[in-house]
Amino acid sequence: MAAWLAALYLLCHGLALALLPGHATAVSFSFLVGAPLLAALACLWRMRRSSAWVGWLALALGMLLWAGGMALNMYQEIGAGMADAVPGASMLLYVLYGVPLTFAMAHPRHEPWQLIVIDGALALLLGYLFFVHTFSFATLHATGEQGIVSLRLMFDIENLFIAVFALVRFLASEDAARRVFFRALAVFGWVYLGVAAYINHLAADDSYGGVVDLLIDVPFLLLAVLALRSGTGGAVSTPRRLALAVGAGSPLILPAALLVVSALLVRAHPYLAVMGFALATLGSGLRSVVMQVRSLERQDQLDVLARIDSLTGLANRRQFDQALQAEWSRARRNGQGVALLMLDIDHFKTFNDRFGHPLGDACLRAVATALAGCATRGTDVVARYGGEEFAVVVPAASRDGVLALAETMRTAVERLRLPSQDPQRPVSVTVSIGMARVEAVGGSDPAALVAATDAALYLAKRRGRNQVAEGALPL
Ligand code: GH3
Ligand code: MG
Ligand code: MG
Repeated sequence: MAAWLAALYLLCHGLALALLPGHATAVSFSFLVGAPLLAALACLWRMRRSSAWVGWLALALGMLLWAGGMALNMYQEIGAGMADAVPGASMLLYVLYGVPLTFAMAHPRHEPWQLIVIDGALALLLGYLFFVHTFSFATLHATGEQGIVSLRLMFDIENLFIAVFALVRFLASEDAARRVFFRALAVFGWVYLGVAAYINHLAADDSYGGVVDLLIDVPFLLLAVLALRSGTGGAVSTPRRLALAVGAGSPLILPAALLVVSALLVRAHPYLAVMGFALATLGSGLRSVVMQVRSLERQDQLDVLARIDSLTGLANRRQFDQALQAEWSRARRNGQGVALLMLDIDHFKTFNDRFGHPLGDACLRAVATALAGCATRGTDVVARYGGEEFAVVVPAASRDGVLALAETMRTAVERLRLPSQDPQRPVSVTVSIGMARVEAVGGSDPAALVAATDAALYLAKRRGRNQVAEGALPL
């Protein structure tokens, strides 16, 4: 449907040129302003439906700038004697249209606001330097052929830059919404590049009002069609590494564009060029600081997830193994001994069968909290060993001290009142506890301590549960 409307638009443009030859320029200008405006509207429509909305918004802004440039052109060419009123202003808008597009390409989704501010500032500066640069050339444009050549070269570079980067980002995007966005931008970018190159370098006549104008409509109409079309952007076959590299490298696009424009300004405006270089460097430096902080924060969160049992909030098995090994080594150095408790909820399978798994989980949490509450020495490590088993590493404590701790834990669990289906009748559970202790640590491995504690736990179960049993290590 959208494609047919686009074809109709071209047909109307062609017919209007053929039927109104006396007003060819004015008619053509109207269509040339209309095409980017339609593209902008289509982008805004897509923006409301896409998670890549920042990109579509920037693209719509770019289209509006382009339409503004064309409208100004029309005003200057048709309005009598207006040609010199604002020299280069329309050129400026054509060049500036690339700034929001560059911003969109530099800007991955889900960014913290600090990065949006930095990228926004860089994009604004880029726009300003373009502005200065274009006006320098606009003056030359009025005076000589050299200026026109340079200006065209600048347009070519800008168009190529947009086309290449949009294609790279399309190829390396894994997310469907972004693939749709970058595909539209890449198609637009390459067709726009071709049309502009043809008109600037090959077409015999570069004034408006000829059939060539139909060509200028094409990239904008294509963009509008692609924005209106639903789709997923094609199958994903990007190597993960490439996708990560492009995603991580894309923030460099804005500082790189700024460096290029600053380099173009070195001769005419050295101070501005130096400012451009400095801010490009500062911007990408600040960006990497923000990214670094974010990745350290994420690393911290991952570290916590890797150490903590998600159900009970206690140390998990991995953290327990590390803590036990560390305490074992420490005990070997300072000769203060180390003890281990292993606790297992009695008849927990029956508990689960009677009260259901969710209440079983609640019971595990309550037992965990009770055990952690008993371990008042900061050096004791209470962990969920697995399933309904817990373990406590008790460094540098006497035998009596460890046995007292085990007894405290046993009674704390016994006293727990757990909610059941009937609020009037809370239920309770008990634990069996195995304890083993080494006075003088030898050997590099606490496996013998674990085995002795486990055997003691088994003994406590055999002796009737809800009690503490002590194990002995083989000598
Ligand atoms: P014993 O007194 O001999 O220890 O008997 P038991 O029923 O406690 O022993 P067993 O090892 O046979 O059962 C352990 C039960 O713990 C089986 C399993 O359903 C339950 N369990 C293990 N992990 C979880 C968990 O994360 N949540 C819940 N709700 N239950 C769990
Ligand atoms: Mg068990
Ligand atoms: Mg059990």
